[in-house]
Amino acid sequence: MKYDLVIKGGRVIDPSRKLDGIRDVAITGDRIAAVQANIASDAAKAIDAHGKLVVPGLIDIHTHAARVKDGPSLCLADGVTGWIDAGSQGADHIADTIAIAKSAPQPARVLINIGRAGILPEGDTMDLSHADVAAARAAIEKNRDIIAGIKARLSQDVAGPNDFEVLKRAQEIATPYKLPVMIHMGQTVSPLPKLLALLKPGDVVTHMFAPPPNSIVDSNGHILPEVIAARRRGVIFDVGNGRTGHLRWDIVDSVFHERFFPDTISTDWTPEARTAQVINLENVMSKFMNFGMTPDQVIACVTANAARVFPVFQGHGTLSAGAPADVAILELRDGSFDFVDNFGNTRTGKQRLFPSATVLAGKQV
Ligand SMILES: [Zn+2]
Repeated sequence: MKYDLVIKGGRVIDPSRKLDGIRDVAITGDRIAAVQANIASDAAKAIDAHGKLVVPGLIDIHTHAARVKDGPSLCLADGVTGWIDAGSQGADHIADTIAIAKSAPQPARVLINIGRAGILPEGDTMDLSHADVAAARAAIEKNRDIIAGIKARLSQDVAGPNDFEVLKRAQEIATPYKLPVMIHMGQTVSPLPKLLALLKPGDVVTHMFAPPPNSIVDSNGHILPEVIAARRRGVIFDVGNGRTGHLRWDIVDSVFHERFFPDTISTDWTPEARTAQVINLENVMSKFMNFGMTPDQVIACVTANAARVFPVFQGHGTLSAGAPADVAILELRDGSFDFVDNFGNTRTGKQRLFPSATVLAGKQV
């Protein structure tokens, strides 16, 4: 047997190599061995992917998969072979999310919430003393291998008037470790340009389609010049679908009209979101296809682009020979599909992606 596994006859879309065509994907051990038409060699196992899409394993950079024990396996079943937990816990309880990330079958990392008590109903950093630089640094010191950045939720109901100071402290925490900061934008007290000024290359703005106050577009629907400047210097703009206040279709209309597409598409996944609005990463990708992005573009957002954001995913997000053999097999179905934003508005689309099978490190799961 020349290969351990061959995925036969699917439409392989690998934006990292600008590939879109019918190919077989051959795997040896935990690595991609070859991507070619009609691989004839024997393989120990085969997956028939005729009529399906075969893409690099999906990477979701904004989830809360480390909030529950079965989070990692639920995401894996949806083709997610790498994820980031974006601030489910702060310094006080970071050990809980660290333990889940460490035991996850796929590569996983956590962002530490700058609010030391994590996500609070009354607002993570409404009490500014919760934005505790020393406590966060001590947690990072102990968990350098798993903490991949800092999360700062900045909307009015989370940080109140403290948003700017909270973000300043987040950067203070990040600087000695050269870690990225992910901000949760939208409905902030401070104007967005004031917050963007504190972001460095590699930092992430999540919830990029949040409605006003302080969305990425002005009242005429034009992208703010500071947003364009931030992208130009390497700040990443991420979807973060979520369920409350983060996504409104008319904002997507304006932003797409200006051709300012997301760098990364993420779910803001929680167990509750599996049955409402988010469902899974494929469903979130489908929304943006129905707004005019191509399959190649949305797949790039969850593979090659996402892999560049956090070092743990280096070498992932591609089907190049020698890469980790993480593969998502998807179905692209035609029909009539309703997509709901966070405000109850529905748009109907003609196509939707569904997860079909996942290969992680060469093994079908
Ligand atoms: Zn989130």
